[in-house]
Amino acid sequence: MTRRKQVYEGKAKVMFEGPEPGTLVQYFKDDATAFNAQKRGTITGKGVINNRISEYLMLRLAEIGIPTHFVRRLNMREQLVRQVEIIPVEVVIRNVVAGSLAQRFGLEEGTPLPRSIVEYYYKNDKLQDPMISEEHITCFGWATTYDLDDIMQMSLRINDFLLGLFHGIGIKLVDFKVEFGRLYNEHDEMRLVLADEISPDNCRLWDLKTNEKLDKDRFRRDLGRVEEAYQEVARRLGLLTEGTPGDAPGDVRGPTTVQ
Ligand code: C5P
Repeated sequence: MTRRKQVYEGKAKVMFEGPEPGTLVQYFKDDATAFNAQKRGTITGKGVINNRISEYLMLRLAEIGIPTHFVRRLNMREQLVRQVEIIPVEVVIRNVVAGSLAQRFGLEEGTPLPRSIVEYYYKNDKLQDPMISEEHITCFGWATTYDLDDIMQMSLRINDFLLGLFHGIGIKLVDFKVEFGRLYNEHDEMRLVLADEISPDNCRLWDLKTNEKLDKDRFRRDLGRVEEAYQEVARRLGLLTEGTPGDAPGDVRGPTTVQ
């Protein structure tokens, strides 16, 4: 087998050249980092679960008309995606006070917000992803005001849809982060598409009844049972198959049974 060319290695994923021009293979690692990579660890089986959860959510979002970079899942840890020019802005959408919002404003975690908040952060590890405004984004040429309109509309639609989807399986979508990229067609026309991944790595997901955390905060805050939390989200989404390994190749099972 020929060794594929690595295009980029991030904290949780590796991108390889895809089989056709304009495509990439997105490989999901088990590596976990927090607090701007000051804390590092491994969540066994995370890559397999996130590959599956992100596939599922991107497909559901595509069904309601959100364009995404996702093409198809290739295997347990890899998916084929369209190559896009990533906009260096992390878009965070919040429904409930948590994390940095709680810290920055001295608010109590768990307080519902009267309306969803959309925040922007400059995607730059060296600068620790500083919070930015639309003014910075347009002034520094990372996106135009038209792009930002599109990004804001898509982000709010994604939020509405995911809020309902997770509510239906007993999960509160507290907040999450998305990224967008520019996709060009053969006529050099550009459209913005949802890129990266949507998984418990970049969402806060709390059990609706108990507020138990089912996301990466279990790793960040040393709460234990991290693998189980990721698995529980996959299970509630209907992505875990009961039964003995080997019954249905490609399905996600316990993190200990996957490579
Ligand atoms: O830390 P903070 O409260 O700002 O995070 C808000 C949301 O964005 C959380 O769901 C977190 O998982 C996600 N996030 C992320 N990547 C970052 C920063 C935040 O996925 N670099």
